[in-house]
Amino acid sequence: MRVAVPREIKNNEFRVAITPAGVHDLVLHGHEVLVETGAGVGSSITDAQYRSAGATIMPDAASTWAGAELLLKVKEPVPSEYGYFRPDLVLFTYLHLAAEAGLTQALLTAGVTGIAYETVQLPSRALPLLAPMSEVAGRLAPIVGANAMLKPNGGPGLLVPGVPGTHPARVTILGGGVAGTAAMQVAIGLGAEVTVLDTNLFRLRELDALYYGRVKTIASNAFEIDTALVQSDLVIGSVLIPGAKAPKLVSNELVSRMKPGSVLVDIAVDQGGCFTDTHATTHTEPTFTVHGSLFYCVANMPGAVPSTSTYALTNATLPYVRAIANLGWLEALRFDAALALGLNTHAGVLTNAPVAAANTLPF
Ligand code: NAD
Repeated sequence: MRVAVPREIKNNEFRVAITPAGVHDLVLHGHEVLVETGAGVGSSITDAQYRSAGATIMPDAASTWAGAELLLKVKEPVPSEYGYFRPDLVLFTYLHLAAEAGLTQALLTAGVTGIAYETVQLPSRALPLLAPMSEVAGRLAPIVGANAMLKPNGGPGLLVPGVPGTHPARVTILGGGVAGTAAMQVAIGLGAEVTVLDTNLFRLRELDALYYGRVKTIASNAFEIDTALVQSDLVIGSVLIPGAKAPKLVSNELVSRMKPGSVLVDIAVDQGGCFTDTHATTHTEPTFTVHGSLFYCVANMPGAVPSTSTYALTNATLPYVRAIANLGWLEALRFDAALALGLNTHAGVLTNAPVAAANTLPF
């Protein structure tokens, strides 16, 4: 199969949908891989690296899209790419169609087979192509938090691990799922005093078994959140209720009683945020102040570390890409129920019920 990878053109997107290792793997399986020139630059991957892994470098977007049987992207196509859609194209990427009525219509009109990373779902309900980005955002959270705590950055001037004879920072993590656990690991590594709150006691048991002595696990409720937050130097919000907006766990009034200069990182901002005062910020202006506390609410945290994020994402997508290329999209979906849930559009029909409901289109 001819697999093609264009350069991402969405504003501030530096990831790319394949690495040289992915090219090498597909070529070994007998496929042809086309990569648009410069596609890897944002992730520190050169055309020469792709070429030596076996890719053909294409001069522009038009020739890359035209050559594709299977087209891999990272972000949903932007309007200037809709003209490349055609009925025999299989598109595998993050689509987020529930929030993209224009894109949904363009895919349906052109009859594209659209398979969305974010709706691929394992029988355990885990989302294997979203998890890597939660891991990246989670591991980044204590690092941006520690940086925001520096005096020149408007923080209280607290060194997270402290030094012998001083207190380390108190870090509280709301939600011990994929992102929260990743945040916890880095906070422990930085030498912080770490508390994790979750409503899921089974999850707290797992964390306790793995990190006993290094992390305090507390059942999440309004009382315990209040108690933990007024003592915290850094709070990381990483809760998720699947399919719903994030619950507001931290009120403006609670923030008013927190330590001056404390830092609150809301990873859940992309689901509306779990702090009342959260509003989405960008990498160029990531923080704002509420009652003397610093909020960091960047909605695409992995965008700050594209060289890591590209590898994290493609490690997870490659087995599915290989299956689609080896078997053809229909057989690959028949063979793998998780991948089948990724199908969002085919031959002008919306094939994903929640996406159809969000677009008020027939399913
Ligand atoms: P997850 O499902 O693995 O974990 C969520 C956890 O929150 C679960 O353990 C759940 O039990 C817990 N929870 C639910 N309600 C709670 C409550 N009231 N108190 C305490 N815990 C509660 O989800 P995840 O993959 O870790 O994602 C977390 C959030 O991070 C999501 O909103 C996701 O979209 C977001 N995210 C943001 C970025 C970014 O760049 N900002 C990147 C990746 C993911």
